[in-house]
Amino acid sequence: MSGGGGNSNEGTLVCVTGANGYIASWLVKLLLHRGYRVRATVRDPSDPRKVDHLQKLDGAKERLNLVKANLLEEGSYDQIVAGCKGVFHTASPFYHNVADPQTELIDPAVKGTLNVLKSCAKSPSVKRIVLTSSMAAVTYTGKPRNPEDIVDETWFSNPDFCRESKLWYVLSKTLAEDAAWKFVEKNNMDMVSINPGMVIGPLLQPTLNASAAAILNLINGAQTFPNFTLEWINVKDVANAHIQAFEVPLANGRYCLVETVAHYADVVKILHELYPKFKLPARCVDAKPLMPKHKISKEKAKSLGIEFIPLDVSLKETVESLKKKRFVKF
Ligand code: NAP
Repeated sequence: MSGGGGNSNEGTLVCVTGANGYIASWLVKLLLHRGYRVRATVRDPSDPRKVDHLQKLDGAKERLNLVKANLLEEGSYDQIVAGCKGVFHTASPFYHNVADPQTELIDPAVKGTLNVLKSCAKSPSVKRIVLTSSMAAVTYTGKPRNPEDIVDETWFSNPDFCRESKLWYVLSKTLAEDAAWKFVEKNNMDMVSINPGMVIGPLLQPTLNASAAAILNLINGAQTFPNFTLEWINVKDVANAHIQAFEVPLANGRYCLVETVAHYADVVKILHELYPKFKLPARCVDAKPLMPKHKISKEKAKSLGIEFIPLDVSLKETVESLKKKRFVKF
């Protein structure tokens, strides 16, 4: 397949930062499918593990241009975004075991986002930026949550609470999104943010990303599951939401993107139904009551036309992909 057929954005040039990553790889795939020309940034274009899977995508030969860029190099995106109509800023470090949160997570997230936005501000071709934020920048307010509360786009995580709780990745996403809104408001730029929950579904890249690793841990011999409730969403819905956020003229502000809120206990139960022969963790890591589930509004995301792939389908797709890529031990 070389194009989306009949799409008015056929041939439009857009930029995707961190293109080799889990979410961005799907975004590049769907953009190419819709007929876009994609200028995709990676840190190391000479590393086949970062680029081979992108170069093999349908339409890549004709319409994918891989370029080298690092979030922390001032001005390195100036030439890259010049001429692009849309910029999807997805690059940001996502992992939990950090020795130095400031340099490993917060600087690339915050300074990196501002670096990309400054380049966009200099380029008159850029009409809209779509920022990959996270539910991490939404739900961690630090205030007690009632079971009847519905989390929506008006919620914003509290950096002080994140710092006190040492939630460094959550802090990096909260500070980055906050800085981005302040910058675009000051410079009168059009930005939409997509705030996905925990993203699962098939992997295109050959390496293991943090959110798929959460599922792999459950099926690779763990004795216990975490006492934690998470907000789950399929990677294909996330990539599609980014494109809708660019294409729908009235799209604006933030979009929470969560199919379902489920505890790890629920996830293990679904995995057991799907794979009765798997050795799955039989108990929770502690004897405390299970972390309660909260509600997240889907209304705004539905206005982008997102239909939400159900959690059991997403889990099956994740496991099948992990098996195919030989990450599963048993
Ligand atoms: P991923 O596979 O680890 O991708 C992260 C991308 O960011 C990689 O391309 C990485 O490049 C790039 N990156 C990191 N530091 C960089 C730097 N200093 N300069 C240039 N590029 C850099 O993770 P992902 O899950 O796809 O995450 C992508 C985005 O989605 C992030 O903004 C993340 O916060 C957000 N998000 C993810 C989830 C989820 O559950 N997966 C949920 C909500 C939001 P290298 O490969 O060279 O390191």
